[in-house]
Amino acid sequence: MIRILFSGGPEDRWATYSDVLPQALEAAGIEAEIRQDWPPEQVDYIVYAPNEDLTDFSPYVNCKAVLNLWAGVEGLTKNDTLTQPLTRMVDRGLTEGMVEWVTGHVLRHHLGMDAHIVNPDHEWNWAPPPLARKRPVTMLGLGELGEACARSLAALNFPVTGWSRSLKDIDGITCVAGDDGLAGALAAAEIVVLLLPLTPETRNLMDAERLAGMKRGAVLINPGRGPLIDDDALLAALDDGQIAHATLDVFREEPLPRDHPYWAHPRVTVTPHIASATRPDTAAEVIAENIRRAEAGEPLLYRVDRDAGY
Ligand code: NDP
Repeated sequence: MIRILFSGGPEDRWATYSDVLPQALEAAGIEAEIRQDWPPEQVDYIVYAPNEDLTDFSPYVNCKAVLNLWAGVEGLTKNDTLTQPLTRMVDRGLTEGMVEWVTGHVLRHHLGMDAHIVNPDHEWNWAPPPLARKRPVTMLGLGELGEACARSLAALNFPVTGWSRSLKDIDGITCVAGDDGLAGALAAAEIVVLLLPLTPETRNLMDAERLAGMKRGAVLINPGRGPLIDDDALLAALDDGQIAHATLDVFREEPLPRDHPYWAHPRVTVTPHIASATRPDTAAEVIAENIRRAEAGEPLLYRVDRDAGY
């Protein structure tokens, strides 16, 4: 019998897993008991979402892996008590949601939808947008989410450039890496999407210099992590017109404080960290598969590289 600790924060999160996780484990042939309160030394696996009740992993001396329910792990890679193998969430529901959100917001800006949705003077603005093939898009981050979004945009004919740490080879995407690759990718795009993890290397990546290196009047879309952007630099670039609009889903402080300048800025759209969410039914399958693998002595899927920070 495998003992699983579900440490997922608010009680309503457990409610969304209490059916699907046992079902997925059973389907994977795993006999397990899931509780929210095992004695630490008895726990075999921790299914985890960041919460204040469990921040010290050192008493879980027999725990074989911590299986994170979230894709981002920046809060965990810095936790020195977490010495167990750590996996992050890659789930097809999460990916589908991100593809929908990114594609939707890119299309909003590409098609200039705002001018038609809010048109108080009933003006007949006949100004057809260019075709997508004339609207270069750059994706910073070509991981599970960035690659899926890049492919979806390329399928709509946007010329897509993607930037990652290691150089990729993806059909239909111009792939670049390194500082030179970044400068060119930023300069060429009319819409830039950030789908990078937060690491020491990516923190404040979009600073005043890189924002100035973007095409004048470009749009910035950030569903990655708030601290990827230097907020003061972005506000200055928006006021100056260098950046025409920023659509932001993630912030240094969440919920975004009510008096934060982003809320009132006419060229900022705030969405409340909803770009995508882990979907319990598909995520439960990933958790079950990883426990099956660990028990069979097979490598875990989506294991976090502590040195790289993601
Ligand atoms: P992955 O780990 O699969 O991909 C990360 C990508 O970023 C990789 O292509 C990686 O390069 C690249 N990268 C990392 N560091 C650097 C660097 N220093 N320079 C250049 N490229 C770099 O992550 P996911 O695609 O699954 O998720 C991306 C992020 O999206 C998550 O970390 C999370 O912060 C955010 N997210 C936001 C959600 C929301 O609702 N807003 C929901 C889910 C995730 P390489 O391929 O070479 O390793």
